Amino acid sequence: MSKLITTMVGAIDSLLPELETVYKDLHQHPELSMQEVRTAQIVADYVEKFGYEVTRNVGVTGVVAVLRNGDGPTVMLRADMDALPMAEATGLPYASTVKAKDEDGIEVGVAHSCGHDLHVTWLMGVARLMAGHRDAWRGTLMAVFQPGEEVGRGARSMIEDGMVVRFPKPDVILGQHVMVGAAGTVGYRSGTILSAGDSLKVRLFGRGSHGSQPQTSIDPVIMAASTTLRLQTIVSREISPRDSAVLTIGALQAGTKENIIPDDATLKLNMRTFDEDVREYMLGAIRRICCAECVASNAPREPEFTTLSSYPLTVNDDATCERLRNTFEAHFGERAYETQPAAASEDFSVFGREWGVPYAFWFIGGTDPEEFKRAVAAKKLNEIPSNHSPKFAPVLDPTLRTGLEAMLCAAGAWLGNEDSTT
Ligand code: ZN
Ligand code: ZN
Repeated sequence: MSKLITTMVGAIDSLLPELETVYKDLHQHPELSMQEVRTAQIVADYVEKFGYEVTRNVGVTGVVAVLRNGDGPTVMLRADMDALPMAEATGLPYASTVKAKDEDGIEVGVAHSCGHDLHVTWLMGVARLMAGHRDAWRGTLMAVFQPGEEVGRGARSMIEDGMVVRFPKPDVILGQHVMVGAAGTVGYRSGTILSAGDSLKVRLFGRGSHGSQPQTSIDPVIMAASTTLRLQTIVSREISPRDSAVLTIGALQAGTKENIIPDDATLKLNMRTFDEDVREYMLGAIRRICCAECVASNAPREPEFTTLSSYPLTVNDDATCERLRNTFEAHFGERAYETQPAAASEDFSVFGREWGVPYAFWFIGGTDPEEFKRAVAAKKLNEIPSNHSPKFAPVLDPTLRTGLEAMLCAAGAWLGNEDSTT
């Protein structure tokens, strides 16, 4: 067991019921990206009670809480706070029924279908426990509650608001995410753990006309269809089989009526890559194909490209991961395992990149262990509702405890009186 945690065992047990209440409240009151006003207030008020220097409204709704506890390293722990624009379908007694207006003014259901409510709860618990056991560690703890992860803007908005000049430079930045996996387990990895994610909107311009007179049109529907198919050849024909990449066109919109050839068409696409060179190559290939298909169709103008979101690769630092591996294996035994990179993306690494400090991110399993075992045996893992599914529902016991302990282990590996190797 982590030595830091040994001193806290009783406190963890007695804190869990309170954290469960906090979690269910956050779950029932999800807030859209960059609108996390209530959540931010709850976390800021909570950590302030335990002696943290709290700065609110960093990058819109971000909260930075600093606890100085003598000489030693500075460790930044990060949790993201936002929910997703989707209706929840878990059927849980504490399911969200919240509706809110998105940035376009459209009313949408709102749900914590990525589990960020758990991330917030874990970090609140860790903040409280660290404050209550100051003789068990030395250094500075910085708890960062970040807005807008789901739109890829939250970390950047905190940085644009002076994050790196207003707060102590961390020696290491640590974060964790609940994922499909047996509850009670912790998955770590050196090197790339999450893909880069880039989303683009491409508008293709044609010339509208009556459906009976195609010769007077430049048909953007054909242009969009042809572009869609040709874009699929990037991964299948241009990327080496040793590299992996995903390109999905998730939206394809044109026209209103069967006998009107519309003026333009819009594609929205998302790509995931695990290597910076592959990422650059694919971004170039997408432009090349879109422009060339427009030329092939005799389009009146070049297509218009808009970046919808851009998430960098999450590449865990080797030495940081080695220290995490030691503490996780010592504490969790066989419940700690080396995981594969996931084709999901995060803006967590933006902080480490901006500050130029090492970072590491790991996964906490949130699936009922028996259900997970059955799904693995039946080769039906894909049927377990994952993050962003309306049915995503992490089991609280032991996920709440595991995430709390993992973050305490990790913080203790730098700050703990005996755990620390520096
Ligand atoms: Zn998500
Ligand atoms: Zn997430």
